[in-house]
Amino acid sequence: MNDKDEHRADCAHCDAVCCRLTVVLDAADRIAEHLTTHTPAGLHVMARDAEGWCVAVDGASGGCSIYEGRPTVCRRFVMDGPYCRDIRADYRDRRRRGIPLVVYT
Ligand code: SF4
Repeated sequence: MNDKDEHRADCAHCDAVCCRLTVVLDAADRIAEHLTTHTPAGLHVMARDAEGWCVAVDGASGGCSIYEGRPTVCRRFVMDGPYCRDIRADYRDRRRRGIPLVVYT
C-alpha cells in the first residue's frame, strides 16, 4: 500500500482486507460446502486460512474466486465506506508496527 491508499479505498489497490472479516452466510447463499465452516456458536460462515483470509480469495490474483456467486454480505460491503476505511486503517497500522495478522472476529 502507498500513501494514496490511506485516503481513498479502491479494491484494485487493496490487499482484500475485507476478505479477512467473518462472513456469515445467508440462507439464500449457495456456497460450496468445502469453502464454509461453522463457528463454535453455530454460525455458518466462510472458512478462513491460518492468517484469517477467506479461503475463496484467489492466491494468484488476490480477487474473489467465487465473485459471481459470492455471499450476500460480501455483495453489500461498501467500498470506501466507514467500515472499509476503518479496517484498512487498522490493517495499515498493524503492518507498520510489525504486528502479526490476527483473525478479525
Ligand atoms: S467470498 Fe469472496 S468477496 Fe467474500 S470474503 Fe471471500 S473472497 Fe472476499
